[in-house]
Amino acid sequence: MKSSPIKYYSTNLRAPEVSFREALLKGLAPDGGLYMPNSIPALSKNEIESLFFRDYQETAFTILKEFLGDEMEESSLMTICHDAYDFSIPLEKVFNRNYILRLDQGPTASFKDFAARVMARLMNYFASDGNQHFTILTATSGDTGGAVANAFHGFENIDVIILFPFAEVTEIQRKQMTTLGGNIRVIAIDGKFDDCQSLVKQAFTDASLAGQQLSSANSINIGRLLPQSVYYFYSWSRLASSPAEKIIFSVPSGNYGNLMGGIIAREMGLPVEKFIISTNSNDEVPRYLATGVYKTINPSVNCISSAMNVGHPSNLARIIALYGGIMDENGVIRKEPDMKRLRSDFYGTGISEEETRDTILEFYRKYGLLLEPHGAVAWRGLECYQDILKTDGYLAVSLETAHPAKFNDEVNRVLGFSAEMPDSLIGIIDKKEDFLKIENNYGKLKENILKR
Ligand SMILES: *Cc1c(COP(=O)(O)O)cnc(C)c1O
Repeated sequence: MKSSPIKYYSTNLRAPEVSFREALLKGLAPDGGLYMPNSIPALSKNEIESLFFRDYQETAFTILKEFLGDEMEESSLMTICHDAYDFSIPLEKVFNRNYILRLDQGPTASFKDFAARVMARLMNYFASDGNQHFTILTATSGDTGGAVANAFHGFENIDVIILFPFAEVTEIQRKQMTTLGGNIRVIAIDGKFDDCQSLVKQAFTDASLAGQQLSSANSINIGRLLPQSVYYFYSWSRLASSPAEKIIFSVPSGNYGNLMGGIIAREMGLPVEKFIISTNSNDEVPRYLATGVYKTINPSVNCISSAMNVGHPSNLARIIALYGGIMDENGVIRKEPDMKRLRSDFYGTGISEEETRDTILEFYRKYGLLLEPHGAVAWRGLECYQDILKTDGYLAVSLETAHPAKFNDEVNRVLGFSAEMPDSLIGIIDKKEDFLKIENNYGKLKENILKR
């Protein structure tokens, strides 16, 4: 049984520990750090073995209750898990013991649905519980906006405001945000993604907006991470031949929230042989593992796997914290983590644009299966690691984080045909859009935040 309830500390170590509810509703800790659980519960051997017989919703409940069991009714959590995961989660065999986990069947065809849908329901639960009203303010460069808009749509106690750079998202991505209406307000900024992000930051530090109860739905929020532990347990429990069999995961990484989910799963007892950190030319983390020197990439490099164009991943501070170090919000390492353990747990690699395209082509030719650029980066990362190991005999899962049809420009360029649209995307093209366009000006944004 649990000894004491889990509390959440800030990675900067200069803020009080808080409950999950508070960490979720605040997003960022007041000292600028990220919230982390002060202990990660280990599942017993029996509980881990029981996962072999549980479906996805039950697996999600088993994992999340470890963190939330003290703060909400188990029956409410069970309802949330059932409600959130009403889509399929295919594991596709590629060859031997090598698989693709397709996390692209949710309503916005992005793996971000997995976290956003649970997070929205948890926030709604806690808001209704205290009869409170919250406003989620989020900047997006593409996929987050759609997943968040879709996940929060229709919740009475929560308004959502999404900022996106007018000229930098695709038509599908824009329509996934702008066709919902209701409690979802979308504002196009005449600027870059970085401008959107600094406007959001400014709003969070604006004392005169304190009454608005602003909260964040970016992956700085611990509520975005915990649900992402579940599919690691789930895929292993479908594929492992015994509870002792170890597994390799290749994770296409941008802000490293997805990977953090996997790391938490391993801390809870999932037998992971290795995590492969697969990224594009924004390879500051693989370089850090190799050299021990951390250097952000600024400005970040524009690659076709666009969700990974991140020159300083926000979740790196959490990984460093779990390995005994301290990294501040500017990316300065205040205390060295255990590099030896980091290097033995992870293999990191940066995949070039040419390799990414070659992989989309080769993968299709060899196996008849489709990958989009992010999934291709992950698969190539797995191949690199297998070259080093000189074996592909381990059980291995490579994560596909978006539906190929969301990146049809690139798929078509490489293969000469487009991926078939999933139903969720077909419907959206003809829907009516509604959004506001404003200058890159904080005063204008603030006016709109106050206008609820
Ligand atoms: C967000 C995203 C990623 C990166 O995930 P992180 O958790 O930020 O590392 C990878 N692929 C796709 C398609 C994404 O939308």
